[in-house]
Amino acid sequence: MIRKFITRVFGHKAPGITGEPAVIGVARHGIRRESISKGSRHTVETLQEHGYKAYVVGGAVRDLLAGMTPKDYDVATNATPDEVRHCFRRARIIGRRFQIVHVSMGAETIEVTTFRGHHGEVGSHAGNKAHTDDQGRVLRDNVFGSEKDDAARRDFTVNALYFDPTSETIIDYHHGLADLKQKTLRMIGDPKTRYREDPVRMLRAVRLAAKLGLTIDPEASRPIREMSELIENVPPSRLFDEMLKLLTCGYAVKCVRQLRAEGLHHGLLPLLDVILDQPLGERFVMLALESTDRRVRQGKPISPGFLFATLLWNEVLSKWQTIKIAGERPIPALFLAMDEVLEVQAEKLAITRRIAGDIKDIWALQPRFEQRSGKRPYGLLEQPRFKAAYDFLLLRAESSEIDDELAQWWTDFMNHDGDARAAMLLPPKPDEAKKRRRRKRKPEAAPTE
Ligand code: ATP
Ligand code: MG
Repeated sequence: MIRKFITRVFGHKAPGITGEPAVIGVARHGIRRESISKGSRHTVETLQEHGYKAYVVGGAVRDLLAGMTPKDYDVATNATPDEVRHCFRRARIIGRRFQIVHVSMGAETIEVTTFRGHHGEVGSHAGNKAHTDDQGRVLRDNVFGSEKDDAARRDFTVNALYFDPTSETIIDYHHGLADLKQKTLRMIGDPKTRYREDPVRMLRAVRLAAKLGLTIDPEASRPIREMSELIENVPPSRLFDEMLKLLTCGYAVKCVRQLRAEGLHHGLLPLLDVILDQPLGERFVMLALESTDRRVRQGKPISPGFLFATLLWNEVLSKWQTIKIAGERPIPALFLAMDEVLEVQAEKLAITRRIAGDIKDIWALQPRFEQRSGKRPYGLLEQPRFKAAYDFLLLRAESSEIDDELAQWWTDFMNHDGDARAAMLLPPKPDEAKKRRRRKRKPEAAPTE
């Protein structure tokens, strides 16, 4: 009955029943060779002309089937990395653990991967013993394999679909197309084993379900709560990459809610604890994520610095307050608080130095928005990071952390010029005026050492 149904729906043998994959024609899946990027099509065709098997695989096929625009293209082939490199003029091998080839086609970079094999589960090829840590996390999986092996080592069924642009067919080993139609995110193999091998798959499950509007299959979602602490074993740089993907996939609000629902936010990352456990900061963070989601979906660029500046702002505010109460002057206190917050995060999250610099610039400009007299507002407008800092100020106003009036003043100040702008300036505050008089009276003294 089920087999009949699948045959009717897909026009083919049910995948898995005979061990053979389903080969699904374009009439059933609707993806044409023109649907994929020129670069990926050309890459596949070139490999095929050289006598190799090649397919577009993974996220791109999944996203196209779901009616979304893929963000990049992966190609899988039976050619070894060296063989791939020799097929193209602009190609280079990257990675040490598992070599992949980056093929450049105009502005596009296509990631080409040789079919990967099993890494030593019971019953797999002898001699391919997995290298794992104490918790079972796979440390090395650098074994080439067959097309079928390659499909089995992918994480979710919807990610194991192989599109051949030449025949316009999709090869489906694990009922991925049916799962996508039924809006189910299903793990290939035993979910517990697969999470143990690579705990990041728990985060991928949440991100992909949120992005594609899928329900995580109960088999795959049930173990997450009890296994969440395995995430602590994952190297910080990999977690940072995954967090960045999660926060910039265009569905960050949904992802963060789902992380909480799955019990994945605790002890997962200090950053997430920070985001989700502060009722006061939650509104600000959610507004920031909503605006990031909007920008991503409109195809506008987003800055990781801005994003992380918003995520950590409440930490800075509370540390800043503590340091001021202890007697430090406001501005030095802010800089101390900024350094402290970034130091704690850097340990766990491997925030790059460049991003940390952007974050600090945005924070450090915030108190300068308070100064609305004399030449200072003009100076602030000239700052290279002014626009980002201003956007940040708008979010602070929207979340009611500061008065709307201040944000409105700056919006007007930017929109006016000449006399109208000058007329907006406020009279100097009494203590500022005093400081200025003192500075004027001071002779141009030589700097004292
Ligand atoms: P996106 O590009 O939207 O982040 P994606 O699924 O394409 O999603 P990639 O990281 O580009 O994610 O991975 C490409 C493919 O490689 C996936 O579709 C999946 O088949 C496989 N893959 C990626 N990460 C894992 C993993 N941790 N375990 C098993 N397979 C994985
Ligand atoms: Mg991808």
